[in-house]
Amino acid sequence: MINVSSHSPGHVKRTALPKRAFCGQTRAPRVRRIVFVEGENPLRPFSPLAALQPSGGGRPRLQARPFTPFPDSCHGACGIKATRRASGRPLAAPGSVVLTWDSSVVNMYTEPTGGIALEQFIKPFSGFNGTNLYVEGIAPGSNTLSWSYSGQSDCVDVIKATVLKVELDVENTLRTLMETNTLTAMVTPLNGLSVSEYTFEIKRDGSPTWYSLYQGPQLSFEAVAKVAGQFDLRVSASVAGVTCVSQEKDVEAQFPGDSDILAGQGVHSRMDQAWANTKNATTPTSRREEGYYITLDTSSGSYGITVHTIAPSVANNQGASWNTATFPRPPDSIVNPAPLEQPTYIIGWFHTHTPTTYRSVGRGVGPSGADSGWSANASINIPGYAYDYTESPAGSGSIPAAHPINSAAQIYTITPPIRRPTP
Ligand SMILES: [Zn+2]
Repeated sequence: MINVSSHSPGHVKRTALPKRAFCGQTRAPRVRRIVFVEGENPLRPFSPLAALQPSGGGRPRLQARPFTPFPDSCHGACGIKATRRASGRPLAAPGSVVLTWDSSVVNMYTEPTGGIALEQFIKPFSGFNGTNLYVEGIAPGSNTLSWSYSGQSDCVDVIKATVLKVELDVENTLRTLMETNTLTAMVTPLNGLSVSEYTFEIKRDGSPTWYSLYQGPQLSFEAVAKVAGQFDLRVSASVAGVTCVSQEKDVEAQFPGDSDILAGQGVHSRMDQAWANTKNATTPTSRREEGYYITLDTSSGSYGITVHTIAPSVANNQGASWNTATFPRPPDSIVNPAPLEQPTYIIGWFHTHTPTTYRSVGRGVGPSGADSGWSANASINIPGYAYDYTESPAGSGSIPAAHPINSAAQIYTITPPIRRPTP
């Protein structure tokens, strides 16, 4: 999907050679430019210069008959024209019609599809009444196609052919939500040509629908990941009336990991507040946990919470739990967002544990087995956090009964998963 190196003739555009002849000693040959697109992109039709119109379906088939009719610029000094004017078609003129080209850039064929590329094209002018030739751009580069008449040294027909390749450079193929990714179009070669417009597009992997990220003169675009998922990116460049489309690049936008979330603006301080609330709600006879889900609003990048609930108080001879948590995980603001939407996602969960200050038994600290099972549950599947005391004494993994209420405490991470899986 990413490989753009294929130069197989079966996958490139072939078009007939347009013509432009000029014969004369006092003027330089007129140059007509045609642009071919390397590679085939079935999603966007090939659009050559307006003067060249494809006919029929499938591969464009463009026809021109070299040297007929002659342009007015072919003067009487030109042997080709003189002969034709005399008879309407070549007769006994000496010399040959010779077509030269760079076979590393373009190939010539006698058929619009298939066939073997010509190694050379030389026909005696006598009896030559035109032919159809088809040219394919096979590799990036510029080339001058020259028709000449060996019987007249200054009778030449010059066509500037450029095979363009448009590539998309993606700074990172994996980004976390709200991170920026630099997308850059690379068009080669561009000697003598200019890109009038770039269009960067995105679609979900497996979807046929492309969405425009940017359309304008800039060859680079900063994309911010706002929808989690697997996506395809591409860029097209409009050059000399031809739209060239790059191969697709695969990118993934993932949810923030447990450490990213905890470092988010306001996340830690909100947990501190919940811990203070839990301690304040502790009495000599009761205590309770509280908790919530953590959200990320991708329209602003801000972290928030939802369904903050306080569990019922329990007596000193009971274990505490946050038993009011919403199950399954609450839905996102947009259930199946399109690439340009800005949903608010549920990305984590949090709850507090309770003091033993007024209890006659100690307990283990940190995430319980039930906490770990909650994070990993298929209907939750996000990292969690528990606010709890730091073990005392060190190495015990627990706190004793009657542990002072303002003893050292910390935030424990509850994983796996370290992040919500990418959809
Ligand atoms: Zn817990």
